[in-house]
Amino acid sequence: MNTLKKIAQFPLYIQIVFALILAIIVGIILGAGNPIISPSLIEHLALPCTLILKALRTLATPLIFLAIIHTFLTAEIPSRSGRKLAFLLITNTLMAIIIGLLVANILQPGIHGNLELGIDIKPSEKTLDPWGLLQDLIPDSVVKPLVDNNVIQLIIVALSFAIVLRGLKTKFIEENKTDYLPIEKLITVLFEAVIIIVHWVIKLVPFAVFGIVSQTIALKGFAPFKSLGFFVIAVIVALILQAIYYLTRVYFGSWVHPIDFIKKGSDALITAFSTASSTATMPITFEVLIEKIGLRESSASLGALVGSNFNNDGTALYEAMSALFISQILNQQLTLTQQIMVMLTSIIASVGAAGIPEAGLVTMTLVFTSVGLPTEYIAILVTVDWFLDRCRTAINVMGDMTVSALVDGKTRKEKLEEAFIETGIK
Ligand code: ASP
Repeated sequence: MNTLKKIAQFPLYIQIVFALILAIIVGIILGAGNPIISPSLIEHLALPCTLILKALRTLATPLIFLAIIHTFLTAEIPSRSGRKLAFLLITNTLMAIIIGLLVANILQPGIHGNLELGIDIKPSEKTLDPWGLLQDLIPDSVVKPLVDNNVIQLIIVALSFAIVLRGLKTKFIEENKTDYLPIEKLITVLFEAVIIIVHWVIKLVPFAVFGIVSQTIALKGFAPFKSLGFFVIAVIVALILQAIYYLTRVYFGSWVHPIDFIKKGSDALITAFSTASSTATMPITFEVLIEKIGLRESSASLGALVGSNFNNDGTALYEAMSALFISQILNQQLTLTQQIMVMLTSIIASVGAAGIPEAGLVTMTLVFTSVGLPTEYIAILVTVDWFLDRCRTAINVMGDMTVSALVDGKTRKEKLEEAFIETGIK
């Protein structure tokens, strides 16, 4: 009991590494490809994974629903910067997804080694049918999207509430009334409550890793993991390309030199990598942007505080690549229209992903369902997610920093002040 308590105090990634090692040992003992006991017994090892994935699927919709309303209600964006911010966020996220899809299409990480879980899969019938999609936009009832895990309908419902509530808030503030406060508090508390439950489920991820890895090794040996290695490399290549894209944008769109950007911003990037949480990194991101890089406080807060709530380019890239990877494993290459669907849902899924470790796994379930991929296969990704999560979190934070630098513009703070002093403008 005491040992268990001690293990529970280790950081999640250590627990996952520990679970991996244990799983390899158990998998080898059970036969490593030539099971020494009945395969149907060994299959039960996947139970924790199945349960944890079910819980993640359940949490995905309320999480996204509340995240959207919460962001609209609480974000303080000066209207002048609002449009620029929205443009920067959308273009960066789109670029991330395009890079992810291109790399996954070119490197085809899923064609190496056979990783099939032996789940019965009906070939996906979901393609992008614009008329069907249009007819499907409006749900039959307000709660139906939550029940069906229908992302597009969910977004419509959430956005309607979010826009109306924001409008009411502005009206009340103008009239010096505080009637909006209870609903704002309620949404904030509910959002936090869902995140706490997500935390609980995520704490159990080491069990899922243990179960799925030991089961796979016992039944099929080590060969299935070959393609995962290719996947990890492909994701890292794509994330590096995204980082290069950020640096290019910083070079052309702001006064900050890309080398300084990386050097002075390294505290935030390293913290993001070590905590796997962009929310936990937020105060450090904010500080390095102002104190070390020297951005204006307003620009830093737009990127680091507002952006970090819903700007998760690394997560978007990863979710799109994961969908493609699994479709390659299943030999069910996604058509162009399906990839466009992946693109749309990945944007939404990345907005809905909270800035906490492994949150991308929660919303990924929605991307998979949108193109008819079996969410059970997310289990395979769980084994490498502890590492890739750190890499994509660093890119999430770098994305927030980039947005801040771009909002800060081409003129440095002091230079602008000096120019004002020289020309006598205050
Ligand atoms: N861990 C990421 C973050 O905090 C979210 C994710 O899992 O993709 O930004």
